[in-house]
This record gives sequence, C-alpha cells and structure tokens, in this order.
Amino acid sequence: MNPARRATLRRLALALSAPLLSSRSLAAKDQRPAVEHAAWRPLLSAAAFEVLFEEATERPYSSPLNDEKRGGRYHCAACYSPLFSSAAKYDSGTGWPSFTEALPKAMGTKRDFKLLIPRTEYHCVTCGGHQGHVFNDGPRPTGQRWCNNGLALRFVPEGEAAPALRWPASTG
Ligand SMILES: [Zn+2]
Repeated sequence: MNPARRATLRRLALALSAPLLSSRSLAAKDQRPAVEHAAWRPLLSAAAFEVLFEEATERPYSSPLNDEKRGGRYHCAACYSPLFSSAAKYDSGTGWPSFTEALPKAMGTKRDFKLLIPRTEYHCVTCGGHQGHVFNDGPRPTGQRWCNNGLALRFVPEGEAAPALRWPASTG
C-alpha cells in the first residue's frame, strides 16, 4: 500500500472511531469517579456525614421531615439524586420518615447484622450514602417499610427546581 493511501485510510479510521470514543468518554463521565467517604465530609454537616458515611442512625422523632406532608421528592442529602416520591411516604409511627417504596433503581441494598438479627440496609446507588433499612412490615401496596434517616434526605417540594447532582472533587 502506498503511503498516501495508508494516510487516507488512517484518517478515515480516525473519523469513524471518533464518535465511538466520545460516547465512551460520556459513559465514563456518567460513572462518577469513586471517592473516599471522607471526600464527602466538607459537603455535609457532621451529623449528616455520620449517618450517610458511617452508618449512624439519627434519634427517632428528631427529623423535621417526619411531619413533612407536602408533595415533592426526597433526594439524597449527599449527591442530591432523587430517592423517594412523597406519594410513597406514610406515617409509620416509628419516628423516622418512612416510605412504601423507593424510586426505581435509586437504591442498592445489603444485609446488615449489626443488631444480630439480619436487616436489609439500603443506600443511595449513586454515591453509596447510607439511607436506612427496609422491612417487610409496611402497608399496602408494597408491604414494605423503608425506614429512612431524615438527615440523609433533602426534600424538594413540588414546583421547586431539583438541585443538580453534586460530587466531591476527585482526590486521586
Ligand atoms: Zn447519594
């Protein structure tokens, strides 16, 4: 193959691969860089940090969100991803904001043996921030009780703009 033709082919190959490369870098951007839990500390109150990234549990009846009855959405207090709709909120009488379900694909779960009895811990799937525990003693229609720390949530009333997702600066 003569050099001119080879150069043309190379240009063509580059042109064809360019869209692939850019879509790949977009996907990489969507998967936010992993950060140490400590990187969230400057963005949160000390109490919220303890709940979200050290799996602390707030005192019952301590959150003003217990009595929040307006329509809207509950977002992760760390990264601001939407986690719950007000339509799923109910008064469980436990002293923690409670929901019958989370928004689709909002949460990840894991088994937690802290109290010896296995419980299902759940966390914001975007940032990994601990939110609460889910139990099977909730009301219809799901029978589930998503028992959430109010400190781990940020409520956005209907009609108000949701905050843009946020992420700590990568420390690596
Ligand atoms: Zn989050």
